[in-house]
Amino acid sequence: MAITFEVTDLKQYTVCPRIVFYRYCLPKVRPVTVLMNEGIRQHEEEDEREERRSLRTYGLTQGERVPHLALRSERLGLSGRVDLAIAVPERSAAGTEAIVVEYKYSEQKAGPHFKLQLAAYALLLEEAWGLPVKRAFLYSIPLRKAEVITITPRLRASVLETVERIQQCIATEAMPAPPSNQGRCVACEFRRFCNDVV
Ligand code: SF4
Repeated sequence: MAITFEVTDLKQYTVCPRIVFYRYCLPKVRPVTVLMNEGIRQHEEEDEREERRSLRTYGLTQGERVPHLALRSERLGLSGRVDLAIAVPERSAAGTEAIVVEYKYSEQKAGPHFKLQLAAYALLLEEAWGLPVKRAFLYSIPLRKAEVITITPRLRASVLETVERIQQCIATEAMPAPPSNQGRCVACEFRRFCNDVV
């Protein structure tokens, strides 16, 4: 039976495919780091701020917010919990679109890994609500600003291609090569398992 991957697996696979390999082929080794716990705490604080935040942050005058929406699709082979889903104007009325919002702790513009993550949630949300998702937002907590990301056909195709690549990686249990940019290895929780990186 095919594994259902988490949306965050796609993001991590884009940063370093080995992280996802370790997760599924060596599932008992993943350490919980101080950074992970800090991330959970910051997410909880952000939830409280989101309740007070105006929808204008996302260029909207109306919409129904659904925080922490759990999504799953056997067809896509994906599951995940999106930070915030917005139905415009609302799910019970004839909605015209749905929007995905994810929070991040960085001031950097959205890299390919975040764009892929947002596109994966977009596909899941479309299936769950039956509404088109044409755009998503990455909300920078330190900047208090939302960056809009268009969900392009190319991004949609990348989601499906990445799920297939991960499936092949797990099925063959072949450890992927490290990323060409090994800057992330220094603070990686799996550093002690990778003896061939800086
Ligand atoms: S240490 Fe580097 S190569 Fe190994 S899993 Fe972490 S990021 Fe990937």
